[in-house]
Amino acid sequence: MNIKEEGDIAIYIHIPFCIKKCYYCDFNSYPLRGEDVYGYLSALKSEIKEKALLLRKEQRKVSTIYIGGGTPTCLSGEELGRILSLCKEGFSLTCDAEITVEANPGTLSEDKLILLLNEGVNRLSIGAQTFNDELLKRIGRLHKTVDIVSNYNLARDVGFNNISMDLIFGLPGQSLGEWMETLHMAVNMKPDHISTYNLVIEEGSKFYEDMKRGEIAPLEEELDLEMYTKAKEELEGAGYEQYEISNFAKTGKECRHNLVYWRNGEYLGLGPGAHSYFKGIRFSNFRSIPQYIRGVLSGSPVEEREIIDEVVSMWETIFLGLRLTKEGVGLARFKERFGHNLKEVYGRQLEYLQGQNLISFENGHLILTSKGAILANRVFIEFAP
Ligand code: SF4
Repeated sequence: MNIKEEGDIAIYIHIPFCIKKCYYCDFNSYPLRGEDVYGYLSALKSEIKEKALLLRKEQRKVSTIYIGGGTPTCLSGEELGRILSLCKEGFSLTCDAEITVEANPGTLSEDKLILLLNEGVNRLSIGAQTFNDELLKRIGRLHKTVDIVSNYNLARDVGFNNISMDLIFGLPGQSLGEWMETLHMAVNMKPDHISTYNLVIEEGSKFYEDMKRGEIAPLEEELDLEMYTKAKEELEGAGYEQYEISNFAKTGKECRHNLVYWRNGEYLGLGPGAHSYFKGIRFSNFRSIPQYIRGVLSGSPVEEREIIDEVVSMWETIFLGLRLTKEGVGLARFKERFGHNLKEVYGRQLEYLQGQNLISFENGHLILTSKGAILANRVFIEFAP
């Protein structure tokens, strides 16, 4: 992979609104309401200016901006345009900065797309999820397959040449056949990047309540695993390289923003509930919109702060890095960052996991084997402090 990394700062901006809550969603997102949006946008603009000032003082450049949510594209083009121009005015962007906006099918128009493109957005991430209308309805999504296709084509027509598509598997009632059909449809549209997420039913979602009442059940683990394996086969067969456990890309189209996370790099998160990791401190903003707004108005939206010591930082570098299926954890980079040799610090764990055929060393990098990728959580836990 030909990707710049050292010294990158990534900026994440959280838009906490959606038109309607999906049944499986436990993200920090709320149905769109007028007054929330106005207060939120003013607070966000103040936070952008404050964070931009901080990075300018530190003389740090920003190489990626990711506007996620929620559904950023449920805001108007003008609102999104204002956020983007504030970012461009405030942050010192690298000349090849990656600027991504998440979009849900049905929320894109030609005008909005052109506006995003003109504001410097060079990557779109479309939340397709599945190409089965019946299943889309059952998981509470508002869009239909036809919206995915029309919004995707519109984005290509106006000039987006880097489009990612999110797909989800392991949905209650989803069959292997349906998943294969979704993969085929996605591949036929030729997006540059595909993310395949395995559904985990989390507390706080409608599905969690339905599951407690016995109305739905998670898929059998074996079927989940088969879906994962099929996705890998199908996507690799279509010329996508798996570079992370859940992510596949055409050459050069890896998500640079997420690579900063997986390489345990520094990032600043703006908006309610957003997390940051900067100068050895992890911190997060107030999750609720009113608390976030009050926090910004009174000087800081930060709710929690934690100093990340060396032991925790080494563990994070390993479990995040191991998610990168080809790159893994570079031994030289680990030594340079921590001043310790990885094999000396984790000798016992490495020997055990190699014996189980869960990890291997390739060209100076520690990586998961294919068995290790399936049992990744078992591997990660071995390194936990
Ligand atoms: S669109 Fe995404 S963030 Fe919004 S409710 Fe659905 S899953 Fe959650």
